[in-house]
Amino acid sequence: MENKLLTVVIPSYNEEESIPLFYEEMMRVYKKELENKVELEILFIDDGSKDRTMEVIHSLNEKDDRVHYVSFSRNFGKEAAIYAGLENSAGDYVAILDADLQDPPALLPEMLRSILEEGYDCVGSRRVTRKGEPPIRSFFARQFYKLMSRISQADIVDGARDFQLMNRKVVNAILSMGEYNRFSKGIFGWIGYKKKWLEYENIERAAGETKWSFWKLVLYAVDGIIAFSTAPLVISSVMGIVMCLVAFVAIVFIVVRTLIFGDPTSGWPSMMCIIVLIAGIQLLSIGVLGQYMAKTYLETKNRPKYLIEEAKLKNKEVL
Ligand code: UDP
Ligand code: MG
Repeated sequence: MENKLLTVVIPSYNEEESIPLFYEEMMRVYKKELENKVELEILFIDDGSKDRTMEVIHSLNEKDDRVHYVSFSRNFGKEAAIYAGLENSAGDYVAILDADLQDPPALLPEMLRSILEEGYDCVGSRRVTRKGEPPIRSFFARQFYKLMSRISQADIVDGARDFQLMNRKVVNAILSMGEYNRFSKGIFGWIGYKKKWLEYENIERAAGETKWSFWKLVLYAVDGIIAFSTAPLVISSVMGIVMCLVAFVAIVFIVVRTLIFGDPTSGWPSMMCIIVLIAGIQLLSIGVLGQYMAKTYLETKNRPKYLIEEAKLKNKEVL
């Protein structure tokens, strides 16, 4: 019987330094522990890199016909790169790994064993420490996961990385979620299936630097909340109801007081406070509503998630 095919997808954005290191480590692991079990396809997704990433990928592709690639017309983000990787992968099993070796290829043999022998559909990885990360970033990340687990149906696990190995069934499930605003951690958690978690300590980048600024992470978190929860809408509705109740009580109180004590026309400061407070809550609620509208607007345009500049795939010549 012919061996099954394993595709490793590597989203890469300005990773000229990391890719050679990644390739070396990946081949070392493959030759040592995987070669007798699966064939290999290495699929680089160049996410519109501005450095020599594509040159590095071209040269790997020339010397090793297991290396394939898709190159985007511009930077579309890691989420789009993951989708492109899954969509263009030929493997029976597909793994997603970062180019910077923060997702150790050395875990792949164990992941594959869990799928082949223990009957799991998907093996994910989570880091149990955040060593080497700024403390403030870790703090907000933790709060985000806590909040998400309360307000969303998707099972979003703290420290879960995009690094995982899955079978075709799971790949197809993820591809069937064709939304434009992609929040992978939520998508992976939403689909279900038999999933096993491997835990490991955080590993720092092998070379180059992180592409995520704090602000980019905040926006990503907001995207995640909006994509996988409607709780903010509920909260603004509840605030509206509470405000109405407070107003009702206040009206009764003021009317009765005026009837008993007359109206000495005072209380301007307190009135201004209340007006400002309510105006604030109204604007906030409209803002929340606007966020959902904006996302809906983008979804309805149905734009492609990425555009290809050039690609070389297994059994398939593109452009
Ligand atoms: N990445 C990408 N597109 C982007 C940003 C990042 O494809 O717009 C890739 C990047 O090349 C790397 C992975 O996503 O392989 C994770 O990025 P990074 O290491 O910068 O994130 P961190 O590990 O710091 O969260
Ligand atoms: Mg990284």
